[in-house]
Amino acid sequence: MRVMNNIKTLYAMIVLLGAVGCAPQTEFEVATWHGFKQCAISYTMEDSYDNQFKIALPMFHDYDYPCTFFLTTRWCDRTKWDALREATTIWGCEVGSHTVDHAVYDTLTREQQKQDILDANARINVKLPMYKCNTFAYTDCVVGDTSIISRHYFAARGCHGYVERATPNDYLNISSLMCGSNEAVRNFQDFMNGFNTAKSSGGWCIFSIYDIDDGAGYSPLSSDVLRASLDYLKEQEKTNSFWVTTFKNAAKYSKERDNAKWEIVKDTIKSGSNRVTEDNDKLTIRLEDGLDDDIYDHPLTLRCPMPFGWREVEVLQNEIVLDSEIKTINGCKYIIFDAVPNGNKKIYLIKLE
Ligand SMILES: [Zn+2]
Repeated sequence: MRVMNNIKTLYAMIVLLGAVGCAPQTEFEVATWHGFKQCAISYTMEDSYDNQFKIALPMFHDYDYPCTFFLTTRWCDRTKWDALREATTIWGCEVGSHTVDHAVYDTLTREQQKQDILDANARINVKLPMYKCNTFAYTDCVVGDTSIISRHYFAARGCHGYVERATPNDYLNISSLMCGSNEAVRNFQDFMNGFNTAKSSGGWCIFSIYDIDDGAGYSPLSSDVLRASLDYLKEQEKTNSFWVTTFKNAAKYSKERDNAKWEIVKDTIKSGSNRVTEDNDKLTIRLEDGLDDDIYDHPLTLRCPMPFGWREVEVLQNEIVLDSEIKTINGCKYIIFDAVPNGNKKIYLIKLE
């Protein structure tokens, strides 16, 4: 009997110590970047040069990284559209607009800019009917009329030459680093500088790539250098440092994360004679970003402390089971999962026995 009591006391002490030992820094956290990676990296190509399709695209497939094509629609032939159809549906690549025939917008009137945007988008819609193009890259880095741009695109890429912070200064003129023989990023070390700056600042590094190797287009980049940069990122995957993603996904994530608001609701159950008790086996989370759900549909990575006494958990959103993992950080257990911020799609954490 005494032995039993001692064991009980010891057990209580362990539970108590366990609880004291775990002091969560935050109750609930949205990761700065997807998967709690330290920074985001985006490879964007513009002008629709042949070698982007012949050399770069297969290379991105090899590494299983998505990339972004800012299309000059009149410069795309049938083979390129076919490649883009596969790239967007199978490989998660992005198609943005880079005008119809590379007109520089400060040479166009407001009306002409509007028409050019509509024509480029219409062409993309015809060729890729399942795809919604809603990003843009300025030609020659010249910013157009942003009141028109913002009506058709939620993010636009410029080329200031610096690595953006986790929140860009201006979503309609997001900075990129220009690559190739005529520009600043030419060799592997130049790519490394971009990676390292992004990593140390928790920011977002976007590369603008033009022609590749011996193409006759603007500022060709060596495919060996491109491959070496992808090799490095692949090799670094185990460190969880770099989120390699498209321009639009990083832009969506950034804005959703900054606007995300959440509340944790303790569910109640009615039992017996109208007695209402807390349902300790279920947590409901309402996650909302106040943004247009048709555009802002990228899942955010979330971290929630494991409720006391729970061992296993299932995470549901809209009746769909989400991937989740349980991680111990500084002695505290957390549930980590991805969910789309949408107040109408509540998230349920359910205790499993
Ligand atoms: Zn261009």
